[in-house]
Amino acid sequence: MPSLHHLTVLGSGVLGGQIAWHSAFHGKTVVVYDISDQALESYRLTQERYAAIYANDLGADADRIAATRQRLSCTTDLPTAVATADLVIEAVPEAPDVKTEVYKEMAGLLPDRTLVATNTSTLLPSDFAAATGRPDRFCALHFATALWAMNFTEIMAHPGTTRETLTAVTEFAVEIGMIPIPVRKEHGGYIVNSWLVPLLNAAQTLVTNGIATPEDVDRTFLVNGARFGPMGMLDMIGMKTAHDVLAFWGDRTGDAQMTANAVYLKEHFLDNGLSGVQTGKGYYEYPGPAYQRPDFLAVPGLDAVPSIVSQALSD
Ligand code: NAD
Repeated sequence: MPSLHHLTVLGSGVLGGQIAWHSAFHGKTVVVYDISDQALESYRLTQERYAAIYANDLGADADRIAATRQRLSCTTDLPTAVATADLVIEAVPEAPDVKTEVYKEMAGLLPDRTLVATNTSTLLPSDFAAATGRPDRFCALHFATALWAMNFTEIMAHPGTTRETLTAVTEFAVEIGMIPIPVRKEHGGYIVNSWLVPLLNAAQTLVTNGIATPEDVDRTFLVNGARFGPMGMLDMIGMKTAHDVLAFWGDRTGDAQMTANAVYLKEHFLDNGLSGVQTGKGYYEYPGPAYQRPDFLAVPGLDAVPSIVSQALSD
């Protein structure tokens, strides 16, 4: 029996939901905790999408999908959620006060053996180590969205994390089919978000400032053979988390353009109940976003020239 078999995931949103489903798919017993029945109901619906993806893209048969469902349970009761946990992965919103609050609430409820990992995108495990009440048994384990396809996870310690904790967490990552990527020093944004967040922010700046359409930003990326561009990626990450990251770091660093990008996402998407793939609409509509259609990168006919020239002249 692997040392970390019973997993609890805090937060059933985009990433928490994927981590939970994927871990159950790989044989872990998983409890998902969220603050509201509504969030968990929405997660139950999202599981239908994951079931279809794992069947169609990974070739999982009906028995394996049924077994995955059986190993997954959901609750809004934190003591129940963590009572048997070997490992807790925290995937609540990218807001330091929300995360700190959850860690403090959970600290007195955990079995002594339980390890805790944060899936934060841009914050540091050091920021939360004290709040967990078990800094030696705490580290970051950072997954990427669409983790069934982007199957790597970054492993990052803070100065108090023990070797035993990192060993067990790294074994867990391997057991669920992840390529573990060690981050050699504690670093906000790990490896992937150190380049991805600036890239997404730069792409969003072009849209916020009316320099290019989202589709044209993505076209300049997709001609490289990529499966999705920066704007499609924002849809996959989810506008809530994209907004939270840009708003927090725009404020923290005094970057007015980053703050304006966060405001754009709020006004154009979140205020209208849109969050990207999760809600069926963001920059694109899902399923079957326009960038997946064969004509998205087609050379246009000459009849398209007047419209292109009008855009270049800002008519
Ligand atoms: P999300 O907004 O999709 O989901 C967050 C979930 O947490 C929601 O279901 C919400 O109801 C729940 N929640 C809110 N307060 C809570 C609380 N006090 N206790 C328990 N649950 C609570 O967010 P997400 O995109 O899944 O991001 C979660 C974390 O994972 C963030 O730290 C984010 O930076 C990180 N992350 C996200 C991505 C991504 O692509 N979305 C990738 C890597 C890491």
